[in-house]
Amino acid sequence: MSDLEKPIKISPEALKEKYRIERDKRLRPDGPSQYIDPNEVFRDFDADPYVEPGFTRSAIVEETEVVVVGGGFGGLLTGARLRQQGVEDFRIIDRAGDFGGTWYWNRYPGAACDIESYIYLPLLEETGYIPTEKYAKAAEIFAYCQQLGRHFDLYDRALFQTQVSEVRWDEARGRWLVRTNHDDMLAARFLVIAGGIMHKAKLPGIPGIETFKGHSFHTSRWDYSYTGGSPTEPMDRLKDKRVGIIGTGATAVQAVPNLARDAEHLYVFQRTPSGVGERNNRPTDPEWVKSLQPGWQQRRVENFEALVSGQTVDEDLINDGWTQISGGVNFEGGGEGDDQYEMADFARMEMIRARIDAIVEDPATAEALKPWYNTMCKRPCFHDEYLQSFNRPNVTLVDTDGKGVERITAHSVVVDGIEYPVDCLIYASGFEVSTGYTRRLGFELYGRDGQALTEAWKEGAGTLHGMYAKGFPNLVMSSLIQGGTGANVVPILNEVAVQTAYTIKRAIELEARTFEPTDQAQENWLAVLFTHLTGSAKFSTECTPGFYNNEGSIGDPKMARNAPYAGGTLSYFEELKKWRENDELEGLEISK
Ligand code: NDP
Repeated sequence: MSDLEKPIKISPEALKEKYRIERDKRLRPDGPSQYIDPNEVFRDFDADPYVEPGFTRSAIVEETEVVVVGGGFGGLLTGARLRQQGVEDFRIIDRAGDFGGTWYWNRYPGAACDIESYIYLPLLEETGYIPTEKYAKAAEIFAYCQQLGRHFDLYDRALFQTQVSEVRWDEARGRWLVRTNHDDMLAARFLVIAGGIMHKAKLPGIPGIETFKGHSFHTSRWDYSYTGGSPTEPMDRLKDKRVGIIGTGATAVQAVPNLARDAEHLYVFQRTPSGVGERNNRPTDPEWVKSLQPGWQQRRVENFEALVSGQTVDEDLINDGWTQISGGVNFEGGGEGDDQYEMADFARMEMIRARIDAIVEDPATAEALKPWYNTMCKRPCFHDEYLQSFNRPNVTLVDTDGKGVERITAHSVVVDGIEYPVDCLIYASGFEVSTGYTRRLGFELYGRDGQALTEAWKEGAGTLHGMYAKGFPNLVMSSLIQGGTGANVVPILNEVAVQTAYTIKRAIELEARTFEPTDQAQENWLAVLFTHLTGSAKFSTECTPGFYNNEGSIGDPKMARNAPYAGGTLSYFEELKKWRENDELEGLEISK
């Protein structure tokens, strides 16, 4: 009998105690401020490695109906939905050299969609595209972003390699004035910020990080000129290199097997292990494609959302590690906290731990790779080669027992007083999530009377639907702050894009000079948010630290106001749909 088939014996009290001990080891007084900006360590971190340096163009000065900031899935979908509403006069600005957002920047080896591509890639029925695999790889997703750009004729509207430097509401003109690093001055009636969710990279503030003399980079700026190879070819220049990777989150889980294959030696520096289930990727079955009926994608998206939020549904169309996780849990918003849910999750995590024993040959390594927390405390991972990598003689897991790397010196990484010399150090240390909105965007928004958004939100955000903000007329935002969240982010960006395009079209029809939410509408939305937050707060408190619970620094009233809508993705969609069906722009004050 394999370890996976043995009956699972659980002592809930013992597990709870173990989870608590492991969490307490990791709680740090500096919480989210333990991380630093990569610009403090790397010169030119913000430079784009995928374009020729030195791009210049003449400044653009123009009036336009809509400016959309961001050319990732959020911006692409906004462009597509605006066109569908007959709004043709818009610009999309992105600092990258092409569309794609996260898929433009993240080209690390092994990068792939960790959600089924049939529900992750948007508008498949509109474009007629079918992903080649159940979990498409990064290059295919990036190419699909470009296809969306062509299909909806968005390239003509795009200003790439362009960084917005400031946006300011001009009351006299009733326009947003958008300035950029190319001295552009776009005067837009409506402004849409689709600036990304997890796009600003962060580094661990490990003492000595700036003294490292070997080669180093963040996973979102993979340096193939150093490693050799490409996302699809082996990294041939690593064969005589000792490589270290810091971090074992969703990114590292995908990158490690490739580094293990190619490096002379790989050291994986771990603070908290990820829970890694089976992937079972497979090519798309052409017979299945033939069987698809119109409306299939939305049905599939909704089926996924219902399953992951614990609803009882007749069938599981996706049938993967995500949809099998468990009932009763509220994804990325926290669990219900009832015993039944807790027991189901203990059992699931026992299986995840048993899988490690079944795969990893060295018992001490297997033990160190075991995650001791509830499934949804961190993003669940799925991979069929990650754990196997630790059986290779050229791979060493350096577990820090929850403490993190102690120090970095000119040529090594130090853990528990032991130096591990490395030629190359890769930071798989993630992205900012809970830092200030405008800090992450990289520019300030000045609304009515010149008030900065940072100032207006200094005690926490105020919005309707996470999309409209008082004092910032004709602005629509797409972010996690008071907005939708879930394991599969793209359908949320899509729903928000539908809502954005609808709002703009209605404002045009009404010949509105401005729209913005009333105080009352913002208070009502906050009340809705808080209703859902109560359940997830207890769940989060008990979790091991990570970006889901603001590194364990929860309970801060400002953070509570900035939290996403925790009532589940389908329920968030319902809120937006109801609002559109009502067709009165309820809660928005219109001036003519
Ligand atoms: P994460 O923030 O999830 O992981 C950062 C890692 O760095 C953690 O393992 C963290 O440990 C570790 N770390 C931080 N500080 C130290 C330290 N001082 N010493 C040692 N280790 C340290 O970032 P990822 O880039 O992995 O993932 C971010 C998100 O990106 C995912 O949650 C997911 O939403 C998305 N993603 C999506 C993919 C997709 O296919 N769609 C693929 C990859 C990522 P600790 O856990 O202890 O904090």
